[in-house]
Amino acid sequence: MEHHAVTRNGSSPSRSLAGRLALRIVVVYLVMGILWIALSDRALAMLVDDPVLLTWLQTFKGWAYVLVTALLLYGLIAWQMHVLAQANVRLEERGLHIARLNRVHAMLSAINGAILRIRHRDSLLRESCRIAVDTGGFDLAWVGLVNADARTLSPVASAGDALDCLDGLSLCIASGDPDAHPMAADLCARLPFVVNELSAIPPMDECHSRAVARGFRAMAVVPFFNGSQLLGVLGFLSRQATVFDADELQLLTEVAADTGLGLMIIDQAQALERSTRYDPLTGLPNRGLLEERIGQALLRARHHRRYIGVMALEVLGLRAVIDSLGRQQGDRLQQVVARRLLSRLREGDTVAHLGNGEFALLLCDLRMGMDVSEVADKLLEPFELEMGGDLPPLHVKLSAGAAVYPGDAESGPELLHCAGVALHQGGAQSHAGRCVFYAREMDERVREYQALDNELQGALQRDEMHLHYQPIVNTRDGSVLGVEALLRWDNRRFGSVSPGRFIPMAEHSGLILSLGEWVLEQACAQIAHWRAQGWNHLHMSVNLSARQLLTPGFDTQVVKVLERHGLDKDDMPLVLEVTETAVIEDMEQVSEALFRLKRLGIAVHLDDFGTGYASLSYLHRLPVDALKIDQSFVRGLGGDPVAENLIRTLVVLAERLDLSLVAEGVETDEQRDILRRLGCDVAQGYLFARPAPAEQIEGLFPAPQG
Ligand code: C2E
Ligand code: CA
Ligand code: CA
Repeated sequence: MEHHAVTRNGSSPSRSLAGRLALRIVVVYLVMGILWIALSDRALAMLVDDPVLLTWLQTFKGWAYVLVTALLLYGLIAWQMHVLAQANVRLEERGLHIARLNRVHAMLSAINGAILRIRHRDSLLRESCRIAVDTGGFDLAWVGLVNADARTLSPVASAGDALDCLDGLSLCIASGDPDAHPMAADLCARLPFVVNELSAIPPMDECHSRAVARGFRAMAVVPFFNGSQLLGVLGFLSRQATVFDADELQLLTEVAADTGLGLMIIDQAQALERSTRYDPLTGLPNRGLLEERIGQALLRARHHRRYIGVMALEVLGLRAVIDSLGRQQGDRLQQVVARRLLSRLREGDTVAHLGNGEFALLLCDLRMGMDVSEVADKLLEPFELEMGGDLPPLHVKLSAGAAVYPGDAESGPELLHCAGVALHQGGAQSHAGRCVFYAREMDERVREYQALDNELQGALQRDEMHLHYQPIVNTRDGSVLGVEALLRWDNRRFGSVSPGRFIPMAEHSGLILSLGEWVLEQACAQIAHWRAQGWNHLHMSVNLSARQLLTPGFDTQVVKVLERHGLDKDDMPLVLEVTETAVIEDMEQVSEALFRLKRLGIAVHLDDFGTGYASLSYLHRLPVDALKIDQSFVRGLGGDPVAENLIRTLVVLAERLDLSLVAEGVETDEQRDILRRLGCDVAQGYLFARPAPAEQIEGLFPAPQG
């Protein structure tokens, strides 16, 4: 504003200057005139006596007066006109300077406006250059940013003409480096680098020579910083010489500082956005952003009458990996899965990480709902992940649930909910490698699952758990060889809940670790008690879940329990049962863990044998003592010749491998007889006894020895 006032009143100083000049001329003229009149007559009278000559001389003096004053006037006017012209030139220059400053000022405020308005780095930088050219009046403007190497700086945005001047520009800004650019020292010292006549200095680089060839004459490069760290520069080129003076550089420095600030604001805002909308572990969108994208996809789908698929995916066994190998390996597993999913999706689809190994996918613009299964097949293919060191590779499996719009739900959160319900239908583990589609009746089951899971969390504290024991007998004489401890849960709301329901839940939530510890403690206390009462040959079988087995330090936990109850390695009553499926899941690790248990003198039985569909050859490598033939085979005995053949094969196999056999689920005399005939001497089943509390089971034991 101030500058405007100066320009508008620009004519008044020149008017007063003209008045002063006129006055000066008049004064000199007056003084000369008065001196002439006062002195010339007197001087003539003193020098000349002859009156005729005096008259003639006086006439001549009049002429001389006119001539001298004319010359004097000419000299005076010429001199003063020169002064006036010079003052005018200075004034004009000042006006131009002020106009330039005004333009730079306008540029500063326009760039500040852009900083407040624009949310993207590149757009802001491009806009700043455009403003510098259009508003600032520069012929070329550019922005350079320091590269990731922190050594070089390259242009990232520019505007104006002859932009090819900047081609290949890369300034080494490492001061002290022999390759450092001539500008580096000034820039690093927070000073603008200014050249007011480009052709007057030796070329600094190719860009400099090109700029001279394109007619550029003046250049300023102004640095901007983040604290003490150089972030970048603003460069201005002009075809006029000597345009950059202190005032203008001051303004340009301000422009540069504001641009740097703008960039930092954008970076911070983006970091904030990332942290609230992206998952830090995988870099994938989080639930909030996914829901937003589903919302947008729904709008399009409604309009174009297309389908949308939403899938929920779970990385199976993640908890076991975290329990046994640590959080870091668990994180790596999730990152690998994230990359894999991302690489297998179409452009436009979204994969999000919801946390804890759960991912969700948005499949847009489908022609049919069933297109989801095609994508699912691609995504759910199992793969092997190298774990490094001497760890065996991990078999990674995913399972999925899917919901489709229209049909299942109408909004993002609902679709995600339905996909989640489908995923957990029957437990994600139960459909490894497959995608289950949502159906309405699943909701009720999921609500119940959640309610039951809630109750389960507090079951131990509320003392709702107890153990039943089922005898394992010799089929020849019916004598009891040992018992299997089976967990029972009597809940305040749901009554008696079967372990077939709550054990998988506890495995999923991780509660199995504390439940298992409690079972082991109780069972060991019980067998120690029975042994103390004289039943010296009984053994106690305890079921183990794979997660317990793979928990680091599980064997030391077992040692402590054994010590607490005085159970001795030499006459170890404890038998641990591990299911065949748990073993195949992670053969190498399970087998290592089993070896550690064997060293404690504990026998290991392979439970539910025959359901794992594993090759029999692996049995060689496992430190197991007995196979427990699954109930499904025993059930077929006495009618189904295939079942009988199978048992016969198992008997031969067990003999070959020097393993014992235990038949489970024996319910009839006929089944017992066939087993006996086939050579399977040890069995367990309702025929002999149902699982029952310790006091009832005791009644079946022979009279204590000793
Ligand atoms: P499992 O280890 O195979 O246990 C045998 C199951 O068969 C028991 O079911 C038992 O009651 C049942 N059973 C025994 N004899 C017969 C019979 O003649 N006919 C029929 N139909 N069934 C018979 P339960 O108690 O319901 O346990 C189911 C599963 O839950 C167990 O299968 C085991 O895998 C798991 N489980 C039970 N307690 C524990 C525990 O403390 N820890 C772990 N990790 N798992 C447990
Ligand atoms: Ca068992
Ligand atoms: Ca079993």
